[in-house]
Amino acid sequence: MNYADSVLDLIGNTPLVKLNRVTEGIAATVLVKVEYLNPGGSSKDRIATRIIDAAEASGDLKPGGTIVEPTSGNTGVGLALVAQQRGYRCVFVLPDKVGEDKRNVLTAYGAEIVVTPTSVAPDSPDSYYSVSDRLTAEIPGAFKPNQYANPNGPRSHYESTGPEIWRDTEGEITHFVAGVGTGGTISGTGKYLKEVSEGGVRVIGADPEGSVYSGGTGRPYLVEGVGEDFWPTAYDPSIPDEIIAVTDAESFAMTRRLAREEGLLVGGSSGMAVQAALVAARDLPASAVVVVLLPDGGRGYLGKIFNDSWLQSYGFSEVADDRTVGDILR
Ligand code: PMP
Repeated sequence: MNYADSVLDLIGNTPLVKLNRVTEGIAATVLVKVEYLNPGGSSKDRIATRIIDAAEASGDLKPGGTIVEPTSGNTGVGLALVAQQRGYRCVFVLPDKVGEDKRNVLTAYGAEIVVTPTSVAPDSPDSYYSVSDRLTAEIPGAFKPNQYANPNGPRSHYESTGPEIWRDTEGEITHFVAGVGTGGTISGTGKYLKEVSEGGVRVIGADPEGSVYSGGTGRPYLVEGVGEDFWPTAYDPSIPDEIIAVTDAESFAMTRRLAREEGLLVGGSSGMAVQAALVAARDLPASAVVVVLLPDGGRGYLGKIFNDSWLQSYGFSEVADDRTVGDILR
């Protein structure tokens, strides 16, 4: 019989697939690593496993303990999945701007959520940060993973994502492209690929225009999960050789093209990373092999990136310009 012992054994070993249409005019081979095929639907399953393993080993997390983290997204799902399988309680602190669908995903896995007001200063006792610190201090046996500073985040990518890419490209990879959020993915995967190739792999970060990694101040952008307004310690600035800034309009247009032209229903940070990869690949020879990491799937964004009215409400009419059947029949 061929089966996994638990859903946790399905984390990692995601496949590479070649892009064939959006790469028109590009000589290099562009491959994407499809992280939405992880059981929790994103690359964050990898860091959740590694962070919890390390906290168990160090004694920071004891049997029956509680994981407390301010997160509304993929990290919450990854932590909830691993916690549930290992018998830990999970409490996630979310700002009230987080939509009901995202809240429901976390509670479906058995996590508890605490909703905090968005419109208060970070040092207010009601803020997202203050509430998670207070819960960590007051719940007996609480452990706060802190994905922005936990070295096991980048380490999980050094130990799994990097080796998988090297193995699956048989060492032929020449360029690695990933979006930068906490910085864990690019720092860990990039470090491994540089070491194993003896500097032969060029590492390229993709960043939303306005974020600190590409020289901004953290000005708001709409693409989710990437870009920052501070420098997390999970990010190693010595790893990327280059950072390419991508606008929201470019990220969303490419995200929609990936669904329609490549059959890849992915999130906005994936569109952003592919856009940056195509800019980087423009002048590369046919011998180049560019690997782009796609962090999550598109189902969580159906009401946003894939919704014309939402795009138009933010002024992205050039992205939402496909003629619909309704337009034709009118
Ligand atoms: N895309 C999405 C959708 C994410 O949730 C994240 C994680 N914040 C990233 C990209 C960036 O990954 P990392 O935090 O490892 O830089």
